[in-house]
Amino acid sequence: MRPSAAALEPYDPAFSPVEVILSANENNYGIPPEVAPVLAKAVTEAAWNRYPVPLGGELRNQLAAWHGVAPEQVIVGNGGDELLFNFFLAFGGAGHALVSCPPTFSVYGLYASMVETPVVEVPREKDFAPNVDALIEAARTATLVVVTSPNNPTGDLFPREGVRRLCEACPGIVLVDEAYIEFADPGSTVEDMLGEYQNLAVLHTFSKAFALAGARVGYVLASPAVVAALAAVRQPYSVSVLDQAAALAAVTHRDAFQPAIQAIRQDRSRLSNMLGGLAPLGVRVWPSQANFLCVRVPHAHEVWCRLRDEHSILVRDFSSTPGLEDCLRITVGKPEENDLVVAALTSILKGE
Ligand SMILES: *Cc1c(COP(=O)(O)O)cnc(C)c1O
Repeated sequence: MRPSAAALEPYDPAFSPVEVILSANENNYGIPPEVAPVLAKAVTEAAWNRYPVPLGGELRNQLAAWHGVAPEQVIVGNGGDELLFNFFLAFGGAGHALVSCPPTFSVYGLYASMVETPVVEVPREKDFAPNVDALIEAARTATLVVVTSPNNPTGDLFPREGVRRLCEACPGIVLVDEAYIEFADPGSTVEDMLGEYQNLAVLHTFSKAFALAGARVGYVLASPAVVAALAAVRQPYSVSVLDQAAALAAVTHRDAFQPAIQAIRQDRSRLSNMLGGLAPLGVRVWPSQANFLCVRVPHAHEVWCRLRDEHSILVRDFSSTPGLEDCLRITVGKPEENDLVVAALTSILKGE
């Protein structure tokens, strides 16, 4: 094996079969009932015997129209994850430094090491605030800077002004991962800066707000030059005709996803208040603009096991991640699921 491959640990989502799944930031509402038949028909009628259009023909055109960019500024991938990997194939490698801002999405570090990309980490400060000045300094010699907005697993937005400064300072690419942006306050995206900065790229996915985690479709908006670089390294047929048909149905019916997105936003504050009420039991919750909350609880790993084993509720355990000691990440589910996780946590922490 390549030494860099031999050193890797396979990505492990720590899934186990439970009744209440609040561990992977999926949309627990699923495909809206009025879209489900449209999507099923589109998938059924897709040309299964033909190779897909590599760059996503109609899907690409519709994404471009939606976001007000040219089709040459859009590239689709087999989930946001494939596109992230393609950034490292195109812009990473030995001598091509990545700057990142941990604690954040672990996949960046995994892909960086696969292709021997040196990583410069600029750790977040108290309450997970990014150290923008230190990031700017590090960006001056970077080939790729990745910031996540809202950040996974801390839930905070990266300051827009910080993105501007990064684009100006960095001779390479500034990738803003907006996987959760649909759950954030309006006006939080940095997409409107694409016309100003040729080195800015914005990542989106259908896995979270659009309830298609199983389909595996994501896309990047960037300048035509960045899109061409990503197109050069991609696997030609990575997004299947079925996935393209499903994503196209979601794009053309995107308004139908709004009720669930708004319900999740509302229940995020309700869940946050309920968890905040557990402060006397040692619980701390951070504000979030995503569909999950980062929560600190005493003896988090043990609590995580007991939620799973005694209450059949799965959340994500981050307690062994540096900077996230005793932290769990709880996806905002449906109201009844959110009630269940609060009741279970209360009972565990009260020592019942
Ligand atoms: C979920 C997620 C993605 C992309 O997920 P895909 O399912 O591969 O589209 C990208 N970035 C972050 C931070 C995520 O949490």
